[in-house]
Amino acid sequence: MHGFAYRNGSLFCEDVDLQSLADEHGTPLYVYSANTFRDHYRRLDAALAGVDHEVAYAVKANSNLSVLRLLAGEGAGFDIVSAGELFRVIQAGGDPAKCTFAGVGKTREEIEYALKQGIYSFNVESEAELRFLDQVAGDLGVTAPAAVRVNPNVDAKTHKYISTGKSENKFGVDFEAIAELYDRAAAELPNITLRGLQMHIGSQLTSITPFVEAVEKVAPLATALKEKHGIEFWSIGGGIGIIYQDALAAGSVDWWDAQSEQDRPLTLTRYGKELVPRLKDLGLKILLEPGRAIAGNAGVLLTRCLYEKQGSAKTFKIVDAGMGDLIRPALYEGHHEIIPVKEPGEERRAVDVVGPICESGDFFCQDRELPDFQPGEVIALMSAGAYGFVMASNYNSRPFPAEILVDGDKATVVRKRQTFDDLIAGE
Ligand SMILES: *Cc1c(COP(=O)(O)O)cnc(C)c1O
Repeated sequence: MHGFAYRNGSLFCEDVDLQSLADEHGTPLYVYSANTFRDHYRRLDAALAGVDHEVAYAVKANSNLSVLRLLAGEGAGFDIVSAGELFRVIQAGGDPAKCTFAGVGKTREEIEYALKQGIYSFNVESEAELRFLDQVAGDLGVTAPAAVRVNPNVDAKTHKYISTGKSENKFGVDFEAIAELYDRAAAELPNITLRGLQMHIGSQLTSITPFVEAVEKVAPLATALKEKHGIEFWSIGGGIGIIYQDALAAGSVDWWDAQSEQDRPLTLTRYGKELVPRLKDLGLKILLEPGRAIAGNAGVLLTRCLYEKQGSAKTFKIVDAGMGDLIRPALYEGHHEIIPVKEPGEERRAVDVVGPICESGDFFCQDRELPDFQPGEVIALMSAGAYGFVMASNYNSRPFPAEILVDGDKATVVRKRQTFDDLIAGE
């Protein structure tokens, strides 16, 4: 479910008309639904009922302070991948003691900052990093809580750029090498406390099978590490896939709870049903690190059509948002459903929707049958709440779009549109 639907011929976010937001605040414009964030967080939390667990929202998916504040209010922990993200969490009122710090390339400055803030665990991705963490903690006269990320070598069956759990990916430590690494750490690294074990096999997984495979493969290791080294948590990562293809229709059905596998191969009901029995008797606290599953369907990007160009081979609809505002299609062939804000008729036309940026990769769809829309009209790129604004760039000296958070009938600007002065500040 999500908060976007047509009402009386116009697309709404909760109780707010998106046309009026576009007219008032300009385009391109990100709009988020607060109640969708809440709903998704609560469903994920509920899916693991029956296991001692914590949901640590993956900040990188959408790190707007207002989004973080909302999730902190729900009781979320946070999975961060940089000191900058930790700074954001703290500014938003999040608790550092509920933060885990992932990523393969933490610097000394980042480690020192996180140690001083008292985070829950460093999720370490190599032996070299673990040794460096020990050294930095020693220099500060503290001990560093750590988990090592295991690479279970299972195929997440997702796009190769967002697959992370195979031996050829840069993430984590080989499954076969990890037990000995814990032994060495316990023997040789006095400033490390081995607190947990971590894994994350990829993003936008649409089948339960890789999750089950990874949990079954790694569970004996987690148990062994608990017995030998007293670890207290196992983070099973994020990666739960969302609906991109028929995103609007998904708003009104309970796709998180769809009963049959035909309805949807990966639902939170299914996720909980398959994983809880495999996790509940381990005596470990289970951490979940969802990003996309919480934020993805909670946001849209509004953009206005500027021109139509009839080429000899194609029809191009040129819009005022580009790959600098939403890079997923260009970066990993990400699909976003495209719908006009004014409810269209039945007619469809095959078009390319392209942005203004000087790159051939700057498109939102190619040869896609879309409802017709004209220059001047506003369209919505659905499911843009995760890995959208956070990946924005100023390429072509285009200011970042504004972001709006809708909560019921209230719409708040949670990030102002950049100005030209913002663009050159610091140069
Ligand atoms: C990106 C990331 C996540 C979140 O992935 P989603 O697919 O957005 O759920 C979780 N854990 C780690 C370590 C990550 O790098």
